[in-house]
Amino acid sequence: MSLVEQVKQAGVIGAGGAGFPTHIKLAAHVEYFLVNGAECEPLMHKDRELMTHFAADIIASIKLARQCVGAKQAVIGIKSKNKEALAAINNAIDDPAISIHEFGDYYPVGDEVELVYGITGRHIPPQGLPLDVGCVVNNVETVYNIYRANQNLPVTDTFITITGLVKKPVTTRVPVGMTVQDVLQLAGSPTIAEYGIMESGLMMGKLVTDLQKPVNKTSGGLIVLPADHPVITRYSKTRQQMDRIGHSACDQCSFCTELCPRYLLGYDIQPHQVMRSLGFSVMGPELWNKYALLCCQCGICSLYACPEMLYPREACARGIQELRAAGKGTWQGSREVKTHPMHDSRRLPLKQLMNRLGVAGYDAHAEYTETNVQPEIVHICLHQNVGAPAEAVVSVNDRVTKGQLVGRIPEGKLSANVHASITGRVTAIKDNMLIIERGK
Ligand code: SF4
Ligand code: SF4
Repeated sequence: MSLVEQVKQAGVIGAGGAGFPTHIKLAAHVEYFLVNGAECEPLMHKDRELMTHFAADIIASIKLARQCVGAKQAVIGIKSKNKEALAAINNAIDDPAISIHEFGDYYPVGDEVELVYGITGRHIPPQGLPLDVGCVVNNVETVYNIYRANQNLPVTDTFITITGLVKKPVTTRVPVGMTVQDVLQLAGSPTIAEYGIMESGLMMGKLVTDLQKPVNKTSGGLIVLPADHPVITRYSKTRQQMDRIGHSACDQCSFCTELCPRYLLGYDIQPHQVMRSLGFSVMGPELWNKYALLCCQCGICSLYACPEMLYPREACARGIQELRAAGKGTWQGSREVKTHPMHDSRRLPLKQLMNRLGVAGYDAHAEYTETNVQPEIVHICLHQNVGAPAEAVVSVNDRVTKGQLVGRIPEGKLSANVHASITGRVTAIKDNMLIIERGK
């Protein structure tokens, strides 16, 4: 079986957050196979720990994947500050076609567009793909899952950092579908009664509103903060509240645009113009929304740049949504991208970002530890990937074993297989969610 077919069977998807089915990426023919180990979300250390503890598997996988896509070179992006991960990967490299590109400790160097530019000097065209400039990019956890797929092992676990106000911050792997409540126990549970949890990052992650929510293949971390921490209260606001504050308080200073990393890379994204769509212009929102189309939702404008603590990122998300709904979501502007002269000098050091967010005091090592956790119940989502949901191939009351296929790619669709993450009985299938209980 080819590597592409093995990866397809194993249900590998982008573990860095996007969830794009990996077998599609591996079917391409490119010049560079790039590996994203430049983790830059504050407090998250999952990728660093994976590289430190699974370096040999990651390099073995890169060799296979590089050959698979016909790339001349494979390059792993790692931050210079992650000395242990760098040493482990360096020691494991035994192929001159594989090298390391070191990044400074800036946010968001792990963004795909930034990573491709940082390593190759190439600009991905507006709304384009790395493929357009001869690259495929995969996160280190995805690469690790490719290695397992090559051994006919499906994706049943996800790597996760559990940190913030917990007794023992840790990075570990857990079965896909474990609830947030159960995962938190692996770090000794929260140390305060009133807390909020961010999943997969403070900048681009989501606020957890239900402790019974399951983690999935793209989950990278759980960060526990006090319930009244500004980051938590900001994410708790409704769209109407954000728009109302923006409408009344935005003074068009344009700091949000001047510090936007995509703008600094040369893309025509201007969040201060998008803010005008909130109603303080008679021109109507459509004129301003077009300046949102190339936004990657990194959050710098909202969580760092804006002196008024407004929500330009969220205005961009809404602008893109409205344009897509009107069938106008395709970029019509210039395809030429030219790096802004201030690109290097306006980069955002991670420490500065953590100070601004008020989380510098929560940073913990969160070393990788095998917990071998065996949850009694998992809620496995059949739609963890970009594209269509998988279709269930088991029924309620069926017994399943860990690693067994429970959801398959629908005929002719972009999708990804899903497997049982524990051995047990299927007790419910509803709304693309499949519940497996061990003791039944
Ligand atoms: S930084 Fe804030 S106040 Fe200034 S233009 Fe942007 S949203 Fe408005
Ligand atoms: S979230 Fe803000 S800073 Fe980030 S790309 Fe979008 S507009 Fe730019």
